[in-house]
Amino acid sequence: MRLGFLSLFGLTLALPASAQDITLHLPVVCEIGRTCFIQKYVDHDPSPAMRDYQCGAVGEDGHDGTDFRLPNMPAQKAGIDVVAAADGKVASTREGVPDAFVKEQDRERISQIGCGNAVVIDHGNGWRTAYCHMAKGSLTVRSGREVKAGEKIGQIGLSGLTEFPHLHFTLIKDGKPVDPFAYGAPEKSCGGGKSLWEASLQRALAYQSGSVLNKGFATGPVTMEAIESGAVEQETPTTRSPALVAYIRAIGLKGGDVQTLTLFDPDGKPLAQNKAPPLDRDKAQWMAFSGVKQPQGGFRPGLYRAIYRVERAGKPAIEQAFGISLRP
Ligand SMILES: [Zn+2]
Repeated sequence: MRLGFLSLFGLTLALPASAQDITLHLPVVCEIGRTCFIQKYVDHDPSPAMRDYQCGAVGEDGHDGTDFRLPNMPAQKAGIDVVAAADGKVASTREGVPDAFVKEQDRERISQIGCGNAVVIDHGNGWRTAYCHMAKGSLTVRSGREVKAGEKIGQIGLSGLTEFPHLHFTLIKDGKPVDPFAYGAPEKSCGGGKSLWEASLQRALAYQSGSVLNKGFATGPVTMEAIESGAVEQETPTTRSPALVAYIRAIGLKGGDVQTLTLFDPDGKPLAQNKAPPLDRDKAQWMAFSGVKQPQGGFRPGLYRAIYRVERAGKPAIEQAFGISLRP
């Protein structure tokens, strides 16, 4: 009798404890750092500032989820699947919101449906996941449908309040958003709490404060719009192009970062260098370019390289090298 009582007691204590945690599959079918990037983490700071789980500022005030961003619109149009992060049952969906960049005058109206096309999955034990900004017409599930971790539920889009194609992924416990990178982190801790991502994802999801989203070479001046739309990739520079311009777009830069973008000729001699003054504040995204006009008689054929470097507090933080072979 006594033994029975003890084991029963042990059982009731053990069951809820083990059932409490959730393990998350990556909700997007892309390679972090190559074909998709984390643009924003969860905000841990109750004040009007942003503090991510590592005490950086990758995100924005009040951000309650993790943003998985695609490099540009062609990547979105090619179709990147969104999948269930864990087994569960679809609790609700919304469909029919167009994929469009938010214009200032529409901001208030769209904020009513800020999440855009969306899916909410109930995983039991108070856990839910929400998936926002999905592509119009891409949802493959309806309310009540049982889903397995990794099962497709739609595709990344540009619906609702968003300025770039991405999935906004929110993990909810007992009705409150929590950070899957730092579950249960004590207030004001840096790197505290527990990662709820699958063990195999720990490396890919290691904290990034700053990444290069796009890089390449153009034949003239580059704009943010041309990078986002993919127009900049349409024209490949040749020895006869009016100019050769190396460009990059980086995300998650910090105030004080010093960026240098250098273009080298086929002999490895610097042709042009753009050393930007230290950033005055954190930048969600930033573009830099460095280039030269076509010399008389055209560019010499060969391999031209560019190196982008970011120094943070006097230490190297980001380095990316890329090249192009110029042909007649
Ligand atoms: Zn977001």
